[in-house]
Amino acid sequence: MWNMLCPRLYVDSIFAIPIDALWQRGIRGLIFDVDNTLTGWRGRELDAKTLEWFAGLLEKGFKICLVSNSGQRERVRDFGRLLDVCAIPRAYKPMGRAFLAALNNLETEVESTAVIGDQIFTDVLGGNRLGLYTILVVPLSKNEFIGTKCVRLLERLVIRVLRRRKLLKDKI
Ligand SMILES: [Mg+2]
Repeated sequence: MWNMLCPRLYVDSIFAIPIDALWQRGIRGLIFDVDNTLTGWRGRELDAKTLEWFAGLLEKGFKICLVSNSGQRERVRDFGRLLDVCAIPRAYKPMGRAFLAALNNLETEVESTAVIGDQIFTDVLGGNRLGLYTILVVPLSKNEFIGTKCVRLLERLVIRVLRRRKLLKDKI
């Protein structure tokens, strides 16, 4: 059970993701969560640093797709347009269907694709179930959906157990 909840990497923010090491490992596709991973919950903007970082990823040759559970379809699609990547709203993570649609879109395989997000029970669990490389990031803000706040209590417990078992790594 713990395996399914354990991210391969746990980092402070997207900027701490070891991009070159991922590339060397054969990762070519990146699936990003949106809320509290790239922008605040229901955020409408991406900061300049994020835009620049994404441009660098694309330049390096990564293929990227946003996969968000948010029902605000246009907001998610706007982010996709802004970043010049595909975007799938209303994803129902941890269910696999949206991830599979993303893989199809990216034309990458499970073994060569990473999922990056701030939630264990959606991003990490959903990614691990399919065998994707999962990266958990610390959420950008504490502001979020009330249901998510409840789940965070359980999430903190899981993180504590994973940490005690020395299963959390921030480097490849
Ligand atoms: Mg999120």
